Amino acid sequence: MRENFLIFGSPLIGEPEIAEVVDCLRSGWVGTGPKVQRFETMVSQYLGVAHCRCVSSCTAALIIGLQLLGVGPGDEVLVPAMTFVASANAVEHAGATPVLVDSVPGTGLIDFELAEAAITPRTRAIMPVHLAGRPVDMERLARLRDEHGLKVIEDAAHAIGAEWRGRRIGALGNLTAFSFYVTKNISTIEGGALVTEDAEIAAEVERLALHGLSLGAWQRFSDTGFRHYEVVRPGFKYNMTDVQAALGLHQLPQLDGWIEDRARLWDRYDALLADLPLETPPAPEPGTRHARHLYQVLLDPDAPLGRDELLDRLIERRIGTGVHYRGVHLHPYYRDRYGFQPADFPVATAISDRTLSLPLSPKVSEADQDDLVSALRDLLAR
Ligand SMILES: *Cc1c(COP(=O)(O)O)cnc(C)c1O
Repeated sequence: MRENFLIFGSPLIGEPEIAEVVDCLRSGWVGTGPKVQRFETMVSQYLGVAHCRCVSSCTAALIIGLQLLGVGPGDEVLVPAMTFVASANAVEHAGATPVLVDSVPGTGLIDFELAEAAITPRTRAIMPVHLAGRPVDMERLARLRDEHGLKVIEDAAHAIGAEWRGRRIGALGNLTAFSFYVTKNISTIEGGALVTEDAEIAAEVERLALHGLSLGAWQRFSDTGFRHYEVVRPGFKYNMTDVQAALGLHQLPQLDGWIEDRARLWDRYDALLADLPLETPPAPEPGTRHARHLYQVLLDPDAPLGRDELLDRLIERRIGTGVHYRGVHLHPYYRDRYGFQPADFPVATAISDRTLSLPLSPKVSEADQDDLVSALRDLLAR
């Protein structure tokens, strides 16, 4: 039995992050300021995109992004059924209708054929999700966008560092939202970003994230002379603080190495789990870089234990795993509001019932993996 509980998705935070946070606290500038600006520049350079604006979460980025795309009441937005509910919730907050789309078996990514079939005269936008860090087919997405005049906002909460044909996700011409939540590939504890090629959209993101004010805090409270701000539209309170950005400044430079660590653990899981009654994730598509955010297995329908029982048994053995996800259509709010049945999204429903995410992060050791694999071997023995 393990001595310590293996926490799923625990972030790796080093001394440089801690020192930068302390520096921030001692400086007196703890709100939105120079460290956020430095982090935004660092993110946009890393991605190869013109503009990045940091906000308080990916959810905030999605809500602001939809508003800037002009999505509102009466509009429909195509969203995968197999995603975290934040994607669909953002559409609800915009006053629009999320139209759920089933997954492709195997990868669980949005099925673009079904997405195209779901387009109506009200369809305004599509929100693809790079599930687990696996990029969606960006060429197919661009075709769908251009042929049907759709707006696109990519939910790249899992996908910082993912690439499509040599370009990073976020740099392919669409508004793209990232998450720096605790469990994501890099973390500012809470935080997110919206990236774009459009300078005016970037300026609007900044305004909308801070009440709709015409001047940021950095401009209002610095020593350049007093200026009044003006409000031209009611904004939100979605700004990132320098304390958060302090973490990001030292996390981002480690991202590529961490993705390599994750890829090594990934290959090791593939080898160790090969003869168990479960499906391991499909290999990354040629010409892409998978950000290796989640290692999701699908329990065989005839495995000796159901998924939920397996989760419990693993917790008894002091191993934390995750479920990504129970589909949006299965949550009471969406089920009741739109009358969804599990059978409406058969692939997403099957994933919801059978998926299990195994610990995968630079903090996970081979010994941790071995503990998990031997527990699975025990529990799933026929
Ligand atoms: C985590 C996550 C979000 C929300 O990110 P926050 O930064 O926590 O708001 C949105 N979409 C997906 C797919 C996620 O996994």
